[in-house]
Amino acid sequence: MQIFKFGGASVKDATGVKNLAEIVTGFGSQKLVVIVSAMGKTTNKLEELVKQAHKGEDYNETLSELKQYHHKIARDLLGELPEKYMKFEEQLQTTLVGLNECDDMLAYDKVVPFGELMSTSIIEAYLAKKTTCQWFDARSVIRTDQYFTEANVDWVVTEKQVNTILKPVVEASIVVTQGFIGSDVEGNSTTLGREGSDYTGAILAYCLNADGFTVWKDVPGILNADPRILAEAEQYEQLSYREVTEMTYYGAQVIHPKTLKPIAQKSIPLIVRSFLDRNRIGTTIATDNTTKMIPCFVFKGNQLLVTAQVKDHSFMDEKKLGLILQVLDLLNIKINLMQNSALTFSFCIDNKEFKSKRIKELLNRDFILSFESPLNLATIKNYTPDSFNKLPWNRTVIMEQKTSNNYQVLYR
Ligand code: ASP
Ligand code: MG
Repeated sequence: MQIFKFGGASVKDATGVKNLAEIVTGFGSQKLVVIVSAMGKTTNKLEELVKQAHKGEDYNETLSELKQYHHKIARDLLGELPEKYMKFEEQLQTTLVGLNECDDMLAYDKVVPFGELMSTSIIEAYLAKKTTCQWFDARSVIRTDQYFTEANVDWVVTEKQVNTILKPVVEASIVVTQGFIGSDVEGNSTTLGREGSDYTGAILAYCLNADGFTVWKDVPGILNADPRILAEAEQYEQLSYREVTEMTYYGAQVIHPKTLKPIAQKSIPLIVRSFLDRNRIGTTIATDNTTKMIPCFVFKGNQLLVTAQVKDHSFMDEKKLGLILQVLDLLNIKINLMQNSALTFSFCIDNKEFKSKRIKELLNRDFILSFESPLNLATIKNYTPDSFNKLPWNRTVIMEQKTSNNYQVLYR
């Protein structure tokens, strides 16, 4: 049994969906679960739509653009709009009415899942013309908590539901289902966080004990740098789960960070390969891939440096550090780089306005706070002496850190 995941870029138009169908049908008689994201940039559009509806603004133009985009793809593929698609379109319209009275995160999770629901209903209708397949509602098996917009999976319930509800369907035919979405105990739709479809693949691979999980992307595999930043980026043929987990920790956008743990636990190989060039084998991530890695470069823009200074002349001791870390944990903030001195603690985080506002509210009483942004953070994992030459030259270093394996620099 195999799990395939196709991201939004792979199904952004009719040609993309046809290509998906060729990949899937070319796969022969193996049991297959096909997980699909929303088409193209639909999730961004839905975010705009939900924002407008929540504020009580006029959203009709956004809604109509969204519909027209899907209609074009459906008509190009099928000559008509599939019944299931129409049902979701109507549901979306009803959901938008009265949304301004609802909590903003709940509103988000009521609306944004329609991207995946609409894309899979069009794709399944097309695929059904080529092979036997079944549309499946991921929300009927993926159970989460009510942390809307970034819900956490209830593994016990999910595993049970996957085995009783999804497994028999997979035994019978190819399954087409949605990434990114689940539902809570009351049946509300939830989402797993942006780019969460990879994670859905890992959840299903884990629960179904799949033999492999393939992520089809518009890059040939996992590269050691973003090719838009470093032109000479190289591809890895093999990586270990551990290496990739670390890469995602430093901000490499290769795969959703939560994907690795479930598949590593069951040693399920993860393959990242190109949907454009199907002859290339891509990158395989597995347990025993331990060959020495070439340096990996990760660049993160729009960073915020926060410096907390003690108010009296006492030390920045463990108690005070503990207090700061508790606040960051409470706000669900990840530190990208940190350093302490006698009287200060400095940490670098992704620059999000509403988060820095909350930091101020919660830490202003005990510390003198200062903020600097936007800054850039570069990480070289497994650095070599000459890898430093590839970093931008004309930078002003704000903070630097070097261990035996990794080098990180925050610069202006
Ligand atoms: N459609 C969602 C997003 O764009 C989930 C995903 O693509 O993985 O974030
Ligand atoms: Mg996407």
